[in-house]
Amino acid sequence: MKYVDEYRDGDKARELAARIHNEIDPQRQYRFMEFCGGHTHAIFRFGIHDLMPENLKYVHGPGCPVCVLPAGRIEAAIKLAESEDVILCTYADLMRVPAGKGDSLNRAKARGSDIRMIYSSSDALAVARENPDRQVVFFAIGFETTTPPTAAAIRIARAEGLKNFTVFCNHVLTPPAMLHILSSGEACIDGILGPSHVSTIIGSHAYADCCSLYRMPLVIAGFEPLDVIQSTLMLVRQVNQGRCEVENQYVRAVRETGNQKAQALMAEVFEPRSVFEWRGLGDLPASAVQINAQYALFDAEKRFAMQKMQTADVKGCICPAVLRGISDPDQCKLFATACTPEEPKGACMVSSEGACAAQYSYGRYR
Ligand code: SF4
Repeated sequence: MKYVDEYRDGDKARELAARIHNEIDPQRQYRFMEFCGGHTHAIFRFGIHDLMPENLKYVHGPGCPVCVLPAGRIEAAIKLAESEDVILCTYADLMRVPAGKGDSLNRAKARGSDIRMIYSSSDALAVARENPDRQVVFFAIGFETTTPPTAAAIRIARAEGLKNFTVFCNHVLTPPAMLHILSSGEACIDGILGPSHVSTIIGSHAYADCCSLYRMPLVIAGFEPLDVIQSTLMLVRQVNQGRCEVENQYVRAVRETGNQKAQALMAEVFEPRSVFEWRGLGDLPASAVQINAQYALFDAEKRFAMQKMQTADVKGCICPAVLRGISDPDQCKLFATACTPEEPKGACMVSSEGACAAQYSYGRYR
């Protein structure tokens, strides 16, 4: 398949890996954070770890959208779905994420709440059109990649005069989280593999502060194995040459200024939140968006006066440390014992983009 097979060529992968082995300084450690869960998945799935020198380590970051949503937001959605007239629509992965006291959206559905799995924001609009006597709430999550489709759904709902459609908005922003990771310094990283899809929206220029303020090399990388290995080589070269630049390996999709139409759509419907809680990273200022005053009618938090809820993660789960890049999944005592993809105890074991699920699924431990 064009644009897929050619980026999975084993000979080329070994050739690129050999260059990394040749160019790497054996006297130092190289720790590169893959910010995006898609890269975490690719690294485990294709065994990219195994091609790398011993002194080069991939550190997993907070780029899995399901993983970074704190349990309190899921708890709030469960409470909302308990109202008889509400239909809560959301994506499959979120249904299985543990909330407080072993609860989840799936369990709430089993208790009788009307919670429906959808594939896109337009599916939620369709549910609203089909159920004019019910309140349909779209539980929206994700980084900048999924924010424009949510904005489009809200705009369509207004154009159609849909009175029974709202969005519980949990869209988060990549650069503030990246800056937080860098400012804390606790992950001790030497470079960042920048996200692919997010960067198609926000553009490569969005990471300028990461490089200039924290002297951090960053390479925007595609998702295929050759993309990841070539981007790793680019990072190794930046480190060896003492450069701290935003480089773009994923030139077939990412432009410097990103997708300006998508940015305009987001700016029309959303505004920055003063603060948003992330699982693992805590309360981060201006790190998420909320629906602005012009579209306030479609804001579920306002229509249903939703309250902030606090819920502790399962005892023993170290998802927060995994998301900050300071622990590996197999350092968790529950990993592959009490916690598996079939019975996840933490968010990082639910989605295929979660570091724990990726490591468990592809059985690679190093
Ligand atoms: Fe949390 Fe399970 Fe990962 Fe442990 S293995 S950190 S419990 S998701």
